[in-house]
Amino acid sequence: MTDRKRIYLDHAATTPVDDRIAADLQNIAFKFFGNPSSIHTEGVSARDLLESSRRMISNLFHCTTSQIIFTSCGTESNNTIFQSAIHDLGIEHILTTDIEHPSVIQTALYYSNQQKIKLHILPVDEFGLVSMDILEEKLKAIKGKCLVSLMHVHNEIGSTHPLNTISEICINHQAFFHSDTVQGIGIYDYHLDSLGVDFISASAHKFNALKGVGFLFARTPAAIHCMMHGGGQERDKRSGTENLLGISAMTQALEYKYQSRVDDFQYIDELHQYMRKKLVDLDLGIEINTPQKNYCPKILNFQIPEYRGSDMLLINLDIAGIAASGGSACSSGAEKPSGVISKLKPLTKGRSVRFSFSTKNTKEELDYCLYTLDKLIKKKY
Ligand code: PLP
Repeated sequence: MTDRKRIYLDHAATTPVDDRIAADLQNIAFKFFGNPSSIHTEGVSARDLLESSRRMISNLFHCTTSQIIFTSCGTESNNTIFQSAIHDLGIEHILTTDIEHPSVIQTALYYSNQQKIKLHILPVDEFGLVSMDILEEKLKAIKGKCLVSLMHVHNEIGSTHPLNTISEICINHQAFFHSDTVQGIGIYDYHLDSLGVDFISASAHKFNALKGVGFLFARTPAAIHCMMHGGGQERDKRSGTENLLGISAMTQALEYKYQSRVDDFQYIDELHQYMRKKLVDLDLGIEINTPQKNYCPKILNFQIPEYRGSDMLLINLDIAGIAASGGSACSSGAEKPSGVISKLKPLTKGRSVRFSFSTKNTKEELDYCLYTLDKLIKKKY
């Protein structure tokens, strides 16, 4: 590592813990060490913190406390929702896309291979978005109980599905609707009392809290069943002693996020628009993969033309002090082309790069990234 300050542009992969939360962690860990299931004073104060966290989260998302179930991550939330939908709601058909996060598509494939459900892969446009007409036609044609699973903010491209329209379509066809909202929580408001979505999922490390904690929302909590046999915590919906420190930090992080949400959104959109324009202005043949409409400003995905050494682009950016990604974090350990981009734009050559912003990023940082990209692509680096 050099002395130069690192520029972190991978907030869709994970985020640093909010300073204010980090400062309070030790205090919470010492003060609330009790097991929320114990009946003594230590246990009761831990239980109070757990339930006040649930209350705060349900207030932020306009739902009831019983509809919020704490989990260990977004992956667990998605898996639990699918398992419960199949076993407890009797879902026979799952409609989704093949560019969902692996915790959705791999789970759907697993149940399809087990012949528990019939899987319907919906076609997507070049931005990864499903046509509402096609969704409606499909739902009309299928006989049997359906679950539609479409993520809100795409984790690689940043395109956004219209949750209101999808839920209306699902309600009209008596289908259940799950949206993987892992990338949208903290950025968008979710009025779960009026939005007709049946299930959503969240992961705390995406919004400046700790790793290893998340939650799911279930409109009908009775539909949720434990994936793990055990102590029956979370009203029998998720066994295992609750990660109280993580849950408390996640709640605090959400409170901070929603206090400044509107201003933060605007600031990040300014960064997004600035970078989008400047990348094209470099005149190096860079193409923007994130749509101009229906996008989340946190994510900007673009295509770098092939040049000698372009397969080392992310490593060279890292050497220059810039943390970026080529796709989702789960598959970016090795520098290989994004499977999602190859599906969306099969004829496109070159490398895709995903920058994902936070309010801590500045235009000066982006200028340095542009300068570095320019040098790398022109091979003067
Ligand atoms: N869903 C989406 C859209 C994601 O981006 C991620 C993480 O990258 C997940 C689910 C999985 O979340 P976790 O890392 O908490 O398991």
